[in-house]
Amino acid sequence: MKKTVELIVPCYDEEDCIRLFYDAAADVFENELKEYELRLLFVDDGSSDGTLDAVKALQKDSRVHYISLSCNQGKEAAIYAGLEYSRGDYVAVMDADLQHPPALLKEMLKAVTEEGYDSAAAKRQTRKGEGVIKRAGSVLYYAIVNRMTSIRLVPGSTDFRLMSRQMTDAVLKLSERERFTKGIFQWVGFKTKWIGYENTPRVAGHSGWKLGGLFQYALAGLFSFAKHPLRFAVWCGALGVIASLIYLAVMLAGAEADTESLILFFVIFFGGFLLAVCGFIGEYLARIYMEVKRRPIYIIRESDITKGE
Ligand code: UDP
Ligand code: MG
Repeated sequence: MKKTVELIVPCYDEEDCIRLFYDAAADVFENELKEYELRLLFVDDGSSDGTLDAVKALQKDSRVHYISLSCNQGKEAAIYAGLEYSRGDYVAVMDADLQHPPALLKEMLKAVTEEGYDSAAAKRQTRKGEGVIKRAGSVLYYAIVNRMTSIRLVPGSTDFRLMSRQMTDAVLKLSERERFTKGIFQWVGFKTKWIGYENTPRVAGHSGWKLGGLFQYALAGLFSFAKHPLRFAVWCGALGVIASLIYLAVMLAGAEADTESLILFFVIFFGGFLLAVCGFIGEYLARIYMEVKRRPIYIIRESDITKGE
């Protein structure tokens, strides 16, 4: 019997991309991956345009399935929903805008079926078509995350990844609400082959990410996997205490100094420092708060399949 390759596609306002994605994916399986059965699972992340109708229009093809979330819950939640409903022997997560070329699936499947890997993931060779600020921001971000956390993010890595059933099930065991899928993929371990590809612009529509959302995502990555920011606060606090003791000693020794400006400096310095520390603690607290509430990661409005079907 043919093995099934399931494509999980989170979609937020992608009405113009759905058909193009379907055609491209179906084409690859018709021509290059005949030995596999395709299953498509579109996860409509509370789109306000005709995304869901576009998916339903494809359902003449029985390989197409959908889950529609009750509102926009974010790409990470949509991916989790898709993984939970998946049942393919191999599961791939892909963007709807064709920035993740389906043609790469062939090499990915080869890595997992023949070369002994558990997953194959795509990384951008170049960041063509991206602004300088976004590029610089991501270089800095990867440097910080890799220094501060136990996970190692591969520069240019994307969410485009094909996994064995075993690895998919492992990813599903990490049921935290504040999700940073890229880090989770790394954290579960297994052997991953990285495959480079040229960055391609999205085929239609526009990116659903807003600056605030990107910032939120970046923080999730850092705080979900790093204990260092908290530890950093402890070290800075200790440093502050030592510095103030030295300062006191210098004062007692009667050295000349413009006391007023020094005091002002210290007040501002420690004020800022304390605020930063409170901020770090607040970040963790907020996350703990969200986790203990144990709210569901996603809520479904409608779908044509049931879990574990
Ligand atoms: N997406 C989603 N929910 C969101 C934002 C995005 O499901 O809240 C989907 C989107 O439809 C696309 C993928 O996530 O399939 C990547 O989004 P996008 O292309 O906007 O991001 P970028 O390529 O700019 O990182
Ligand atoms: Mg995109």
